[in-house]
Amino acid sequence: MLEQYIEKVLISEDQITQRAKELGSELTKDFEGKNPLILGILRGSIPFLAELVKHIDTHVEMDFMALSSYHGGTKSSGEVKMIMDLDTPVNGREVIIVEDIIDTGLTLKYLRELLEHRGAIVTIVTMLDKKAGRKVEIDPDYLGFDIPNEFVVGFGLDYDENYRNLPYVGVLKQEVYMD
Ligand code: 5GP
Repeated sequence: MLEQYIEKVLISEDQITQRAKELGSELTKDFEGKNPLILGILRGSIPFLAELVKHIDTHVEMDFMALSSYHGGTKSSGEVKMIMDLDTPVNGREVIIVEDIIDTGLTLKYLRELLEHRGAIVTIVTMLDKKAGRKVEIDPDYLGFDIPNEFVVGFGLDYDENYRNLPYVGVLKQEVYMD
């Protein structure tokens, strides 16, 4: 069982689903009639995005994009790479980026600038925010939870592509990194 690798649970499944519900109703109010494009950042945002969109009760479209700034470890490389672009034209469009976590802020800064350059009106939603890790100025418009400066896994977040399927956000045992 995966639980044996977890040192502690930081945010429980109930907390995440409850917060997704609240954010979903805020987005419903704020984007009513605007037909925004929900842009999920692969792969980490998927479980949270799936939870969130169930509670957005107005017309939205969805598209996805893959970016990477980690290369399998626990520290950001500081370099953002686009792996897959979105399909939908965004010029003049409200785009709601859904991210799993903001750490240094480099990924979202890159993405916001790219989308704004293409003419999008950008809103940022993130499940988690590690403000202590910030290297560039960027803040989410909608936030699930602030977390301390620890490497977390679960609810979409991976360590070496594993643990994304945990139903909560937790911290791995030290021994996992030593293998
Ligand atoms: P940033 O560019 O803000 O430093 O990092 C954003 C990306 O880094 C996130 O989308 C996520 O993929 C990864 N990341 C940042 N912090 C963590 C963390 O604590 N755990 C995991 N698994 N990934 C993280």
